[in-house]
Order: sequence, then structure tokens, then C-alpha cells
Amino acid sequence: MAEFTPRKILVTGGCGFIGSCYVRMLLARDDGTEVVNLDLLTYSGNPDNVAEVADDPRYTFVKGDIRDHDAVRKATVGCDAVVHFAAEAQVDKSITGPEVFATTNVLGTQVLLDEARAAGVQRFHYVSTDEVYGHLGADDAKFTEQTLLEPNSPYSASKAGGELLARSYAKTFGMHLTVTRCSNNYGPYPRMDNLIPVIVGKALAGEPLPIYGDGSNIRDWLYVEDHCAAADLVMRQGRSGEIYNVGGNNERTNLEIAKVVLAELDQPESLISFVEDRPGHDFRYAIDASKIKGDLGWQPTHDIETALPRTITWLKDHPEWVKRARKRLTMAA
Ligand code: NAD
Repeated sequence: MAEFTPRKILVTGGCGFIGSCYVRMLLARDDGTEVVNLDLLTYSGNPDNVAEVADDPRYTFVKGDIRDHDAVRKATVGCDAVVHFAAEAQVDKSITGPEVFATTNVLGTQVLLDEARAAGVQRFHYVSTDEVYGHLGADDAKFTEQTLLEPNSPYSASKAGGELLARSYAKTFGMHLTVTRCSNNYGPYPRMDNLIPVIVGKALAGEPLPIYGDGSNIRDWLYVEDHCAAADLVMRQGRSGEIYNVGGNNERTNLEIAKVVLAELDQPESLISFVEDRPGHDFRYAIDASKIKGDLGWQPTHDIETALPRTITWLKDHPEWVKRARKRLTMAA
């Protein structure tokens, strides 16, 4: 398929962990693409993540809610592509308060789709998650795009709802619409309540590292820049109505991740502290990414053996960013 080259991209959730990486990546290319970042700055939106591009004339920040038609309509003016990251994305919060997950992840997506359609946007890319598949046993085959959707948390169910609604706009209205389902991201500017930043913070302070259950839950880890490159490639070259899995082929137990963190920071493994498991905690996620590799030539370019230590060092070397990001989370709690 011929490559689509957008002139102006609406990025939703561009102050979050992954969306901000995408904003920085687009503007670093210096190819003239304009970027509008629509973000509500909820507890997880952090303007510090895009501080380095704030004065770039190609960049516009709009504080607004994806559930608000007027805000979305204004932000969409002149955009020919939408890359939709904005979401409520924390599983634990979805257990204690599911409603905002339904309104943001499902209804917010519908508002964006309707406004994008009305504005004649040519590409709409929905960033989904491997959690829509439910979970795997230790010996099960990896998730493929054909795997049945069995989301287990209100978070993953709301992401599946938004995703299915988005896909229906390709079938019903002929919108050019693509979806990526990706695994756990890691890298700089993380959301401070994610596993890696939480345990790095504890290890740096010499405090116990809270690990759910017995630490045997398995996640596939994907470097955030590899994820953003995949989403961008699919937006430009993916086939409409298609779903592409994106994974790092790095299955690790939470305990293994904790041990790497402790080793990197010269702290003893006795700091590992097992805490009561999360209700409905999915045991294993593993992604078969052969479709995006075969059809579009995507490959992850970061190796976890070096990128995880680099992420730990980044957190250690950015104490001011960490302090402010933590404060934002606590203030919003
Ligand atoms: P994040 O929580 O760091 O960022 C979400 C951003 O969305 C924040 O900046 C927040 O302010 C914004 N937002 C929330 N509600 C909004 C609303 N109503 N209107 C406008 N903006 C709003 O999340 P993240 O980890 O960067 O995840 C980004 C996307 O990637 C999500 O769609 C998530 O489901 C998906 N994803 C994340 C991971 C991961 O490992 N973090 C894995 C798979 C998929």
C-alpha cells in the first residue's frame, strides 16, 4: 500500500507516557509535519513530558477532553490524521472506579471518531492493548490477531469497546481506520504508577519492592520508541480495518524485572516484598507480532538487555522530573 504522508496530526493523550514519546518522535523528524496534542491533563498527563517541544512552531497544545465535541472539533481543524492514545489506562484504578474508563475509553473514542469523520480526516489510528485478549497459561501459544477477545478488567474491556467501535467506522462509514494491540511499554517519561518506575523508586530509596502475588506473572516488554514507530508505520501504511499486534518478544516475570532493577542499583534481593495479588490478575501476555513484521517490515530496534538498564539509569538521572511526576500523581489521587 502506498505510504500516506500526513501534514498535520492530531495526537490525543500526547502528555502521557506513550503519547508524549510519539509527539517528541514526530517533531524530531523535522519533516515539516505539524502536531496538535489534545490532552485533558488528568492525573497521568504530564506537561513536563513535552517541555522540550513546547516552543516548536509546528506544535500546538490543546487542553481538552476527548468526550467534549466542541473541544475535539476545534482541535481537529486542518488535521488529516488522528493517532489516538488518550485513555484511562491504569488497571487498578479501573477496579475501584470503572465509570471513567467507560466514558473516556468508549464514549471519548466515539466522539473523536464522529468529529474526525465530519472533518474529513484521512487516517484514524487507535492504540489498543494486548490486554483485550485476556490472558494465557504458561504453555499457551502467543496472542495472534485472530485470538478471541476476552478482556478481564474494566480497563481492558473498555479498550476493547473503544477498539470495536473504531473498527466499525471502517466497515460502516469507510473511514481509513487501523488498530495496534501492543504489550507492556517501558522507557523514559513513564507513568509513575507503572511497575518499573515504582520499583526503581523503591530500590533507590532502599525500601521494600511491592510485587503482586508470587511475582510469576509474565508480561511481554516493548520499548516505548519501538511502539511509537509501529503505531506511526501502521497509520501511514497499514490496511484499513486491519489490526496489528505489536510486541517486543521479551517475556519476563515481574520477579525477573525486579531482580534486574535491584542488580542495576546495587540493592539486595531481600528488598522484594510479595503483596496480595490484584483481583482477576492476568497471568501471562505474549504477542505474536509476525503480521506487522511480514506485512509492513516493522522490527523492534531496542533490546531489553540494554534498554531496561538504560531506562533504570534514566529514572535515576532525572530526580527533578521524577519528583514532579510523583507529585502530580499524588495531588490527583
Ligand atoms: P498514560 O496514562 O500515561 O497517558 C494517557 C494520557 O491520556 C494522559 O496524558 C491523560 O491526561 C490523557 N487523557 C486521559 N483522559 C483523557 C480525556 N478524557 N481527554 C483527553 N485526554 C485524556 O497512558 P499510556 O501508558 O501512555 O497509554 C497510552 C495508550 O496506550 C492508552 O490508550 C493505553 O491503553 C495504551 N497502551 C498502553 C500500554 C502501556 O504499557 N502503558 C500498553 C498497551 C497499550
